[in-house]
Amino acid sequence: MRVIVAGSKDWPYPSVVTNALELCAATSSNGRHSLTVVHPQPGNKRGPEAVADAWALAQSYRGSRIIAPPERHPPHWYDRCRPGCQKDHRRLIDAGKSSCPQAGYHRIDDMVGRPTDLALIFITSDRDVPAWLDYLMRRLAGLKVSMQEFRP
Ligand SMILES: [Zn+2]
Repeated sequence: MRVIVAGSKDWPYPSVVTNALELCAATSSNGRHSLTVVHPQPGNKRGPEAVADAWALAQSYRGSRIIAPPERHPPHWYDRCRPGCQKDHRRLIDAGKSSCPQAGYHRIDDMVGRPTDLALIFITSDRDVPAWLDYLMRRLAGLKVSMQEFRP
């Protein structure tokens, strides 16, 4: 079972995230490492991605046969542009270095580019949904992936 976890950085209930993942683990025990947590924010110290990452890492360190180490999808700002990028849209960082402003969306494309069973989305406020999260939810809806949304 491949489960995407994403949401608001200020999500206040870490136990809601871990409870949802425990439930996934309990229902996906058909072999070794049958639950993989996938998320886009490896650098975050808070929020549902950080909670899910720490949970999956701890479970896999403990030798869990069910839960795999987390699959992380950071943005690769300095990678080449991809087909579909606007021409000449790279931003110059400093001498000789430039970044692709679409890299945050490319990581979402990479995440959803593999078969996904479920997405757990934790949203604190509908007025404050970041653009990357909105893009992820639209991509998942287009792929008809089961999506469970949580709100305080
Ligand atoms: Zn680009």
